Amino acid sequence: ICWSEWGGWHRPRVQPYGPISLDPSAAVLHYGQEIFEGLKAYRHADGSIWSFRPDANARRLRRSAKRLALPELPVDYFIESLKQLIAVDGDWVPSAPETSLYLRPFMFAKEAFLGVRPAKKVNYYVIASPAGAYFTSGPAPVSIWLSTQYSRAGRGGTGAAKTGGNYAASLVAQAEAADHGCQQVLFLDSVEQKYLEELGGMNIVLVYKDGTLVTPHSDSILEGITRDSILQLAEDRGHRVERRPVELDEWRAGYEAGDIVEAFACGTAAVVTPIGQLKGDGFTIGSPDATPGALTMELRQALTDIQYGRADDPHGWMLRLDS
Ligand code: PMP
Repeated sequence: ICWSEWGGWHRPRVQPYGPISLDPSAAVLHYGQEIFEGLKAYRHADGSIWSFRPDANARRLRRSAKRLALPELPVDYFIESLKQLIAVDGDWVPSAPETSLYLRPFMFAKEAFLGVRPAKKVNYYVIASPAGAYFTSGPAPVSIWLSTQYSRAGRGGTGAAKTGGNYAASLVAQAEAADHGCQQVLFLDSVEQKYLEELGGMNIVLVYKDGTLVTPHSDSILEGITRDSILQLAEDRGHRVERRPVELDEWRAGYEAGDIVEAFACGTAAVVTPIGQLKGDGFTIGSPDATPGALTMELRQALTDIQYGRADDPHGWMLRLDS
């Protein structure tokens, strides 16, 4: 779908996958004016194709658009774009257990000019790619590296928006994590460097012995739809949920005292991943061969059961895409 300041949203169409031609002066190439989303299409046992809370992705795309001075795509256009794609490419939604078709809607400034201002011509696309089961033998706990040299997002910056620049800024930190034998990087707040923010592409949740789930609330993290859903499922099961600033020291002390008994990361791609250990300069919490937490695994199962149509959907989260 195209957008221009004078014509609004127009020219919705499905076209074969292939290169996009861009003017070398296209604003996105110079000033990074672009945003995206990530969600999945799931095939249920009867063959039907569903997505999980696409309205939440649509609304988040609108919030990202606002922050990046891009036009806000109406929620129904977003949903329609997914349905149109599935109408053509539905056969690509796999049916093996725990597989899906990953959907990547994105929007960027295509107007050609060299000054710094919001573009008046923008394109919105959706591409798709089959996603295998993320874990071959059940989710194995990951090791994460605490980055103290780099921040992902600053106060007043674009941390709450899903925009490429945030990910570009996280790449060196992710490489640093890999150098320390970790699969993921954990960022702290950029101002005081003491509050937990999120991983490179997932939110983080800590579980207390009494079953309370605690997750960072911050203006500079991405509000994950997986996290919101997992916390809702926890509340449904009678767990207390706290969304508030969480200090790194709270985790350290809570772990040492035996009060914090599980930690997990969550996001669309990996769903829920147990965190085995956190490593930082001169300290370690947990152990790499920790067993996945029981509540972590219960909530993961509850969520995927809804997504794959194996359980009731009490919150009305699933939307059918192929009808
Ligand atoms: N934080 C970041 C930085 C992410 O990239 C993602 C993945 N979109 C998430 C959190 C989790 O969001 P969601 O559950 O909506 O996929």
